[in-house]
Amino acid sequence: MKILRIDDVGASSKHFNQHGRKVFRFKGVPFFYFPLANFWFFKRVWPFKRWGVYDELSTSEWNKYLQLFDKYQIVPIVAVTACWVEKNGVFVPFYLKFPDEAEVLKKAVKNGKITIANHGLTHCVVGNHLPKIWSRNNDNHREFWPYLSQSWHNEHISRSQEILEGYFGVPVEILVPPGNIWSYKTYLAVLNTNIKKIICGRYMADGEKKMDGIEFVDDKENFLLLHDRDLKLKDEDWLTKQLLSFK
Ligand SMILES: [Zn+2]
Repeated sequence: MKILRIDDVGASSKHFNQHGRKVFRFKGVPFFYFPLANFWFFKRVWPFKRWGVYDELSTSEWNKYLQLFDKYQIVPIVAVTACWVEKNGVFVPFYLKFPDEAEVLKKAVKNGKITIANHGLTHCVVGNHLPKIWSRNNDNHREFWPYLSQSWHNEHISRSQEILEGYFGVPVEILVPPGNIWSYKTYLAVLNTNIKKIICGRYMADGEKKMDGIEFVDDKENFLLLHDRDLKLKDEDWLTKQLLSFK
């Protein structure tokens, strides 16, 4: 049985992580190259926009999709970023930024319809999170790089756990590191929290050191990985096809 995971809920990366499509392909064969795809506004407009501005899911969208998960008896892991980071770097907890959405998810948690995972405190390196004029900015939309300090890791893990557990009223036992990047420092930071599993497409970015008491789950197998972007930009028919093919 595969596991469905939905990432990026509550993350401001959906506004500030923008990048363009430089290479255009037809049946896998490149036919057009546009070197300026990451320049200024090009990365935000069709057909160059590849990953860019989209909005948070609404309550009606969530209700529609939750019904679908229920119909197919799927309990997805919903990976929530604990704070939205504003343009000026101010952190706003998920439940204050999106109170209606948070309430729908809280009810779903209470009814056993979803499992909440920690998808970071910010999803980004705060201060470097805004789009750049000349280039893409994906690297700054990862939160647990090895070059960031141990105190950064500790603070981001403990604050995000506090916010998510405080609001949802359940222990949060899964960490889904934003952008598949985490490090030995992340492991040290999750010790002494309720996190028991790190689910990710790769092991630590800075080595192969063993962990004690924390399980690594490779999501390249047995997972259907979606982002809230998929649910926002596609529809129920698309999702139904995915669910049927993954069961
Ligand atoms: Zn993410």
